[in-house]
Amino acid sequence: MIESRIKQTVRDVNDFPKPGIIFKDITPILKDPGLCRDITVALAEQLSNVDIDVVAGIESRGFLFGPSLAQLLNVPFIPIRKAGKLPYKTIQQSYDLEYGSATIECHQDALLKGQKVLVHDDLLATGGTVVAASKLIMQMEATVAAYSFIISLDFLHGRERLKPYGNEVFSLASY
Ligand code: 5GP
Repeated sequence: MIESRIKQTVRDVNDFPKPGIIFKDITPILKDPGLCRDITVALAEQLSNVDIDVVAGIESRGFLFGPSLAQLLNVPFIPIRKAGKLPYKTIQQSYDLEYGSATIECHQDALLKGQKVLVHDDLLATGGTVVAASKLIMQMEATVAAYSFIISLDFLHGRERLKPYGNEVFSLASY
């Protein structure tokens, strides 16, 4: 089962990036190409009933599986990045993180009006990042089709924070 394979492979790192935080390190997954393939397929299978025009991946770990997921779904991939990294004109949103705060942005021509966007990241914690991504997508007059994560930390109640947006939240492994 994919959930147990993910949980067996992910590494807990204590006190990263700050004391008291137990960080789920997904880099061991990347060393297992078979697991990477199976995760991509499992992400796509969860979305089989969702109408998706574009996959938006969130920097930086949303770039690991986002492009291969988009290829499998046969739709474009767009990067949502931390401020100052994208070369062309951008639209921005600021947000609070589990630790600190940040601004994300995407190219102003990344999305077309009315497009249905799948928001993908490696992990859902408090939900602050994907709420900001949702606002960014709505600023561009596109809509969020669903959220897709490899891991969700359900004890941080990110799913509840996403409820006002009314979209389905998918993850392969929950804690
Ligand atoms: P949130 O905004 O939901 O609180 O935090 C999620 C964002 O922070 C994601 O972009 C995710 O990559 C990163 N993040 C927060 N905690 C962890 C963690 O324990 N492991 C990993 N891999 N990423 C985390």
